[in-house]
Amino acid sequence: MTLQSDALSALPVTALKGVGPKSAERLARLGIECVQDILFHLPLRYQDRTRVTPMQYLRPGDEVVVEGEVEHVEIRFGRRRSLLVHLSDGSSRIILRFFHFSAAQKNNLKAGLALRCFGEVRNGPACFELIHPEYRVVEENGMAMAEETLTPVYPTTEGMHQISWRDLTGKALELLNSSEQGLQEWLPDELLQAYSLMELSAAIRYLHRPPPDAQQQLLLDGVHPAQQRLAFEELVAHQLSLRQARQLQRRKQAPRLSGAGYLRQGLLQALPFELTGAQERVLEDISADLQQPVPMLRLVQGDVGSGKTIVAALAALQAIEAGFQVALMAPTELLAEQHMKSFQQWLEPLGVDMGWLSGRIKGKARQEVLQQLADGGLSLLVGTQALFQDDVTYHSLGLVIVDEQHRFGVHQRLALREKGSSGRHTPHQLIMTATPIPRSLAMTAYADLDLSVIDELPPGRTPIQTLVISDARREEIIGRVRTACANGRQAYWVCTLIEESEALQCQAAEDVAQELQEALQGLAVGLVHGRMSSADKEQVMAAFKAGDMQLLVATTVIEVGVDVPNASLMIIENPERLGLSQLHQLRGRVGRGSVESHCVLMYHPPLGQQAKERLAVLRESSDGFVIARKDLELRGPGEVLGVRQTGEMQFRVADILRDQPLLDTAREAADRLLSAHPESVQPLVDRWLGVNTRYAGV
Ligand code: ADP
Ligand code: MG
Repeated sequence: MTLQSDALSALPVTALKGVGPKSAERLARLGIECVQDILFHLPLRYQDRTRVTPMQYLRPGDEVVVEGEVEHVEIRFGRRRSLLVHLSDGSSRIILRFFHFSAAQKNNLKAGLALRCFGEVRNGPACFELIHPEYRVVEENGMAMAEETLTPVYPTTEGMHQISWRDLTGKALELLNSSEQGLQEWLPDELLQAYSLMELSAAIRYLHRPPPDAQQQLLLDGVHPAQQRLAFEELVAHQLSLRQARQLQRRKQAPRLSGAGYLRQGLLQALPFELTGAQERVLEDISADLQQPVPMLRLVQGDVGSGKTIVAALAALQAIEAGFQVALMAPTELLAEQHMKSFQQWLEPLGVDMGWLSGRIKGKARQEVLQQLADGGLSLLVGTQALFQDDVTYHSLGLVIVDEQHRFGVHQRLALREKGSSGRHTPHQLIMTATPIPRSLAMTAYADLDLSVIDELPPGRTPIQTLVISDARREEIIGRVRTACANGRQAYWVCTLIEESEALQCQAAEDVAQELQEALQGLAVGLVHGRMSSADKEQVMAAFKAGDMQLLVATTVIEVGVDVPNASLMIIENPERLGLSQLHQLRGRVGRGSVESHCVLMYHPPLGQQAKERLAVLRESSDGFVIARKDLELRGPGEVLGVRQTGEMQFRVADILRDQPLLDTAREAADRLLSAHPESVQPLVDRWLGVNTRYAGV
């Protein structure tokens, strides 16, 4: 445990009156273990029970408190037996409707009784109704206490009622008020003042029991100063935890990879093109890092087609020349194979020994590769995640390159660092991604990495024309394919289907390939999908690349990396099913040569308003950053970062899209804490990421 744990974080929930082992167990399911955790369990929304609304002002949908006198009570036998209580306050009348009621309840509700009720207003056949309202009798002498604060509604779990939550948080707040230390304020005054932040305990009190005049809309939107105060602290805590991971890494030793650069020169001289300024700049960043005795952790962002692969190859040569091994990992077999091809073409003439490893390499072949790797016979290993299975040992791994890292989550990324370590050396890491996310977001999501951006495309590319066309015009589109191929071009036809069903997706692609082959007599139509053996896939891809095949029908397996410059037309079926960034990646398969390319987004009508907007973004922009930002607005950061399934980048209070204005200041604050208030770092991380980081420490 940390030494400076604050009082309420050391106090188990069972310290609260009325919380026994059973409730403790329920709370534990929500990750709530101490009193502090209860205080950080914040309401989803609020009810206003502080005012009585005159019945004449009721509107359907409102949650209200009303007060009135019972006029009469009846039981209706309709489709469902119900108890109706007619209530009037002089301004108007309403009905309370109960489907479940006891005889006692019915007998107690007599004409003349004054009731105070809370519920949601619904339209009824005769007048407004409250269905199963909470109610109580108002005593003769009147003035039943109205609530003094807005009533919180908490996120909950089975077996926990709102009443229990209110009770629990009420007790925790009492403790907060009476305990000396309360909730330790870990943000120093200078920061609170600099950013005009509320004090922590005040923010917590406010959010659990807002005053009647609180601005509910701000609270609902999560932008109330009390919420922003917490969001800010949470973002700071996340920054700090990623920085810790980074510092930990920095304390490790990495081999200095330096040399005369003759291998690199050799490759540059053999290339048919010159590096772009952006490629050179990024390569310089990498070269400098590789010469340091601490492990590089660098993310290279570059739009589709910006030429990340050659940068990776040049980085690899620096390591190889220094006598170390390089591992290049790609998310899919197809992409890994293509890298293998490029690297063979580039590096083999320089005498570099390369190996290949994927999940499909088994038995003897696998043993052989592993052996060569272990005794240093291989300088470069290309493959999929298989590169980092437990039985893979490297002789002297100096550099790990991960392509299209958005396919791997943060945890995988961190785990990889451990695996690559051998003896006293930790390899350098180069991570490449084509998902161009806005810089402030990138620096939040990847605070443990340094960032380089290839912000320039190689010269001579003609922009891709994108068209959004209904599949009612399928025949016409097939005609377009025929014309393009007759003119010596090649085309992709991409079939999309819901991802969960790979089998269906492949079947659909097979059907489409057959249909198109029949419609396009005389053209060679190929097919690649995820269920084909890599040998088969490779054969088809090779034939397509060589121009022996004019049309390639494919599933989204071709999403990343495939490179055939003569292909200038892409049809994407049902693009509305895919994310914008993914579509942008797909589209990046064309427009790689000098002829003008087209991408047809062939949607299935009717298209919703949002889908229309999304496709229009693609039609109007070819800038990955613009597209990613739009995608972010329309779908949220989880999707765009590709981490939604793994639940990463999920915050308790913060929302990195909504709170973008806080991101930069949270980073500054994290810097300040690390340099001037290191004692606050661990408690903040524990408070906000407690469970996860504790796991990591086990
Ligand atoms: P991505 O960044 O999407 O991975 P690639 O590395 O696959 O892009 O590069 C796309 C294409 O551009 C490849 O055919 C590659 O050889 C070519 N290329 C890379 N850099 C340059 C350059 N500086 N000039 C011309 N072509 C280049
Ligand atoms: Mg690539």
